[in-house]
Amino acid sequence: MDLQYCEKFGYDKSRVDERLVLVGLSEKDHAIAGRLQQEVIVPKFNAIVDQFFSRMLQNPEVKKLLHNPELIKIERVNQSKFLLSLGMGFDSLNYFEDRLRVGVSHSAAGLPISLYICAFQLLIQTIIDNFPATVRSNIDDYQAFMRFLLKITTLDMSLAIDTCFINQLKSFEQSLDGMQVLASHLEKHAVTDSLTGMTNHEHVFNELQQAINKAHTEESPLCVIMADIDHFKSVNDNYGHLAGDGVLKEVAKRIKNSLRGFDIVGRYGGEEFLLILTRADLQTARMVAERIRSRIAATPIDLPEGLLDITISMGVAMVQTEEAVNSLVDRADRALYNAKHNGRNQVALAE
Ligand code: GH3
Ligand code: MG
Ligand code: MG
Repeated sequence: MDLQYCEKFGYDKSRVDERLVLVGLSEKDHAIAGRLQQEVIVPKFNAIVDQFFSRMLQNPEVKKLLHNPELIKIERVNQSKFLLSLGMGFDSLNYFEDRLRVGVSHSAAGLPISLYICAFQLLIQTIIDNFPATVRSNIDDYQAFMRFLLKITTLDMSLAIDTCFINQLKSFEQSLDGMQVLASHLEKHAVTDSLTGMTNHEHVFNELQQAINKAHTEESPLCVIMADIDHFKSVNDNYGHLAGDGVLKEVAKRIKNSLRGFDIVGRYGGEEFLLILTRADLQTARMVAERIRSRIAATPIDLPEGLLDITISMGVAMVQTEEAVNSLVDRADRALYNAKHNGRNQVALAE
């Protein structure tokens, strides 16, 4: 038998035994459990089920839950199984599993624990009402049956109470999942530039800080490229801001497609991009920059406003021993300035 509910609610053999001790059930109760079935439940089975349901259904809340005959039929079958197994093999994991499963299905159907407890009381009452004369007239038997009923229903009730929080737990888990999705959206939003889908200024700067720290400890080369679209202002002026946005998106795409998977790129400013090339020396970085430059210059950008010839200029700098992030970015900026100054659409290396 699959013990999924025992697992879910944390019942193993030792916890089962502890619970039995707590409610006072022991080895010798198996005999009385068998007698309860043989002398009361089995012979009076139909009467007990009928009486139990007619009493339960007098309650408006129960009536509302069991609002059609089909549901009552299903619940009668469940209740019959429950009755016929009441106390049978109570010290087994299977018994616990069965009770937990019934509890889960009731609580999933919306039965509140308060009604559940009342139903337990009503069930014992109905069983007692159906004690045969032989049991009623023998005070020892009567007491033994009563004691056992009290213990076994307390055990069953304790398991039902365990399961009654499953719905709250489920909706709690669902809202937690929802919150995690929301948090990851927010997190993504916080680090992403919405126009280009690239990492934003703050985030790429943080990434650079971390990459520099790593390069210093590992003593591995690291280069940055500062890239800036040439005469971008005139794109906006001549074709409109939307065309400018289209150019930004396409340039961002071409840059991303030209990089290795572990390179990092972010939108550093309006039409400026910062590229971080880890484990790359100046020559490699210059090749990468040159590749990007030529890919952008070679193919005009196709926009509804027309085919636009776009070029970019780039400054490349390699981190020096113990150099800080601001100094590295400054040197890349100065190289970029030189590239602009020397006619744009070119790559310049920092000293
Ligand atoms: P240079 O070749 O010297 O880089 O000249 P430039 O025109 O590219 O540089 P400048 O700094 O004069 O102009 C940059 C322009 O970029 C100005 C600004 O309005 C525009 N810009 C910044 N962010 C955006 C944006 O998100 N969308 C659009 N369409 N334009 C932007
Ligand atoms: Mg520019
Ligand atoms: Mg600029």
